[in-house]
Amino acid sequence: MRAELDNRKPWEPKYLKIILEDLIRVNSDRNIKWHKPRITKKDRWGSNKHKSALIWITGLSASGKSTIAIELEHTLFQKKIKTFVLDGDNVRHGLNKDLGFSQADRTENLRRVGEVAKLLVDAGILTIAAFISPYASDREAIRALFSSDAEEFIEVYLKCDLAVCESRDPKGLYKKARKGEIPDFTGISQPYEVPANPEITIETDRLGIEESVETIIAHLTEKKII
Ligand code: ADP
Repeated sequence: MRAELDNRKPWEPKYLKIILEDLIRVNSDRNIKWHKPRITKKDRWGSNKHKSALIWITGLSASGKSTIAIELEHTLFQKKIKTFVLDGDNVRHGLNKDLGFSQADRTENLRRVGEVAKLLVDAGILTIAAFISPYASDREAIRALFSSDAEEFIEVYLKCDLAVCESRDPKGLYKKARKGEIPDFTGISQPYEVPANPEITIETDRLGIEESVETIIAHLTEKKII
């Protein structure tokens, strides 16, 4: 299933066209139509005095995703920027509590998160998502939901040696995974596909939390998002 999806590269224009045609057909069959809002995302950007985007933080468990997401949100909030964190563990408490960690469930988990993030970005919120998101195809499918012109999808790869992640092990998950108590654990029994072209790479086994947050703030400032 995964190999099939990878081979077809659904974000390629020829496949996007087929998917779009299917969606239009299915939605017209179901009598669903798109309502154009009177207030646009650009109106919200003007009113907020900053743009919105999705900051997608990916990396191994314990690479620092949640920590950096929370600190980044705090820094942005202090600058009076409308921001919100979607955290991998948190969404599994509610929206995605019916999903596990198989490849198919991970893909569905991220598909839903991508759609929620799109709504938040449309609402003018500088959204931060912290998800292991080990498969490049899942991350690229989310990237495809956003405008590349507006640089709305910012992939942040937290590069951290597996041995360092394992020595941190803040939730004791690596210990459990090594004992075979957690099946499907990224880095141990499931792969992590390193991003090929992330907008930002942060080596969290070398940089501190504050410097890591500053790196993202510098990018947002340079791109005139904030
Ligand atoms: P993840 O969300 O990727 O699973 P967490 O943020 O839950 O990771 O845990 C990362 C751990 O590593 C925390 O205990 C944090 O304090 C520590 N840490 C050390 N250096 C850094 C860094 N530069 N960035 C983020 N976390 C760091």
